[in-house]
Amino acid sequence: MTVPTNKLNDGNAIPQLGFGVYLVEPDECERIVGGALEAGYRHIDTAALYENEEGVGRAIAGSGIPRDELFITTKLWNDDQGKESAPVAFERSLEKLGLDYVDLYLIHWPSPTRGRYVETWQALEEIKASGRARSIGVSNFQPHHLEDLFRATETVPAINQVELHPRFTQRENRAFGREHGIAIESWGPLGQGKYPLFDLPEVAAPAEAHGVTPAQVVIRWHLQNGLIVFPKTNSAERARQNLDVFGFELTAAEMAAIDSLDDGTRVGADPDTAT
Ligand code: NAD
Repeated sequence: MTVPTNKLNDGNAIPQLGFGVYLVEPDECERIVGGALEAGYRHIDTAALYENEEGVGRAIAGSGIPRDELFITTKLWNDDQGKESAPVAFERSLEKLGLDYVDLYLIHWPSPTRGRYVETWQALEEIKASGRARSIGVSNFQPHHLEDLFRATETVPAINQVELHPRFTQRENRAFGREHGIAIESWGPLGQGKYPLFDLPEVAAPAEAHGVTPAQVVIRWHLQNGLIVFPKTNSAERARQNLDVFGFELTAAEMAAIDSLDDGTRVGADPDTAT
């Protein structure tokens, strides 16, 4: 199985489909990520907040997969924002992962009440220059947060990882990303199971037509939109299913029907107010 890659604005390539580990219990993480790697995933999305970087690291070490065939992302937690504290937190993450570099390092949230995301971005620019993060980016940034970075710093983020699923399609952020060469990653791509997405006829009907599951339809919708996506599951069976999405294609009408589900419903926090 070959997962396509997207080219980032810094020249690096990222596998368009990966495996997310939010809410994967630390003591189960090694087994679950190990299973995902065995199933064929090569892109893992974790974060300091998830407290499972050590499990991800052990799964990588145990897999025997050459490091340059993997794409590993982690994220800087809000409490560690700042010019001095960000590099310390970054080293801590690398140590927990047991790696000497990550492929992508993200600022997890802008956390605007702290007023530190611009200086934190400057710290990430230095981390990238050191070669210990191949690419750097942000998460949960709105266009106006990105404009603040553009005014004060040299590097355009390679990635903006944002909440994105059929009821919340982020049209504005995606258009802004296209304009400035920032690739968009979809977090909560299945709506985190917080609304009955799979029962909606716009999802259920193409699933039936293509002989696939509703989850596969939704993952395919992200991929055909050019988005980078890493659904999470603790189930080995679902992990295999979520990777098996390259044998069918949604029609333009099926894509448009899913697009039409956007009613502005977030399942997560609002980046302008989240602390
Ligand atoms: P998700 O949309 O991937 O949903 C996960 C839920 O979907 C789980 O309950 C799982 O059991 C279910 N599921 C998965 N595959 C399924 C299948 N084939 N059939 C039926 N149900 C299935 O939500 P998520 O985990 O929050 O998002 C994915 C990843 O995005 C996370 O693991 C994490 O890496 C990242 N994330 C980032 C942020 C951020 O602020 N940057 C926030 C949340 C998540």
